Amino acid sequence: MNKPPKKQPDFRMTPQRAGILHFLEGNKSHPSAEDIYARLRRKFPGMSFATVYNTLQSLLALGGLTEIKIDGSRARFDPDCKPHSHLMCVSCGTIADLPAPKLRAARAPKGFKVLRCNVEFYGVCRRCAPGTAKKETSSCQKKKRR
Ligand SMILES: [Zn+2]
Ligand SMILES: [Zn+2]
Repeated sequence: MNKPPKKQPDFRMTPQRAGILHFLEGNKSHPSAEDIYARLRRKFPGMSFATVYNTLQSLLALGGLTEIKIDGSRARFDPDCKPHSHLMCVSCGTIADLPAPKLRAARAPKGFKVLRCNVEFYGVCRRCAPGTAKKETSSCQKKKRR
C-alpha cells in the first residue's frame, strides 16, 4: 500500500476519537494510554487499544498533546502543551504540574541557546506518606534521568 508522506497527519473524527479527545480535554491526571483505554472501554465496548494508541499518536503529531516521560515504566500524556515541569509520586504514580523553571537559570555553555528545559521531580505525595507530613522532609528530590 502506498501511503502518502506524513506531512499533514490526517485525523478522521469518529465517536471513539471524540471520546478520547473529550477525556483528555483539561485532564490534569497525565494518563497513560492504558488509563485512557480502561476509562473509555466502558463507554465504547468495541474500542481496541490500538484505537487509543493511534489516536494519541495522531494528536502528538498534530501538536495537541505532549508525551511526558517522567514515569519510566510507561508514557504518560498531557493535553497541556505549554511548557511546565512535573513531579511524580514514586509510590502511587500521581503526576502533578509545576510551573516551568526559569530558562535563564540554566547554566548553559556560552553561545548555547536554551530552547526548552525539562525538569522532573520525584518524591512521595502527601497521601502516600501521611506520617512524614509533620517532619520536615524535602519531598522534592530532583533526579536526573539516565
Ligand atoms: Zn502518592
Ligand atoms: Zn503536565
